[in-house]
Amino acid sequence: MRIDILTLFPEMCEAVMGESIIGRARKNGKVEMNFHQIRDFAINKHNQVDDTPYGGGAGMLMMAQPIYDCYTKVCNEIQSKPHFIYMSPCGKTLTQQRVKELAQMPNIAILCGRYEGVDQRVIDEIVDEEISVGDYVVTGGELPAMILADAVSRMLPGVLSEPEGFMGESHYSSLLEYPQYTKPPIWHDVAVPEVLSSGHHANIKKWQREQSLQRTLERRPELLDKAELTKKDKEFIDSIKNK
Ligand code: SAH
Repeated sequence: MRIDILTLFPEMCEAVMGESIIGRARKNGKVEMNFHQIRDFAINKHNQVDDTPYGGGAGMLMMAQPIYDCYTKVCNEIQSKPHFIYMSPCGKTLTQQRVKELAQMPNIAILCGRYEGVDQRVIDEIVDEEISVGDYVVTGGELPAMILADAVSRMLPGVLSEPEGFMGESHYSSLLEYPQYTKPPIWHDVAVPEVLSSGHHANIKKWQREQSLQRTLERRPELLDKAELTKKDKEFIDSIKNK
């Protein structure tokens, strides 16, 4: 999969996406990421990419033309139109379900806004989808775009060392993950739950599943409506509800 990111801060993105699991995946060719400097497409003397909003109001807006030209360059490079996403607090909140769907696409491109945002005309003309990372505002689309690109990349084959790595994770199956423990066996007088060192695979699985269900019920009960639950799961949930 190829991910193109259109930004005024490509170095910032490169630094984040050059490390750890995603950095390795890029080096090994599991995912291709390209960062494009929108300012390179400015056509005025001062390389200006923003201007004041019509109708007044605070701050500056990113102009349509440099973004459009940058997008056109990406289209030419890949010889087709990528699925084009604008990171925006006005978008639909990102979910693991949407991440899984986006990971099936051959190309996505992501526009990072800055200042007060982007001229609506370029959004209307080329953006396929607006995505928000939550109901709050940050100063630029780079961090939100890194979240999206990271979440999508780790779904791609060969990016995580164990292919089933993400299956039991929070949100993959609409449940939150169970608590986990590593060495030492006792830390600050607290022991690791006994069952986990029992070597009894079925009991461990049962304990983890129940912890997942209990945690989801306590913290995010609305997620249970979307989860695929077995008869045993439902009985377990009823048993804690009736306690
Ligand atoms: N004036 C805008 C916010 C601009 S913040 C508004 O009120 O809607 C500047 C840029 O940061 C935006 O263009 C967007 O790309 C990014 N951004 C800020 N918050 C975000 C969020 N919750 N999700 C995704 N992108 C966000």
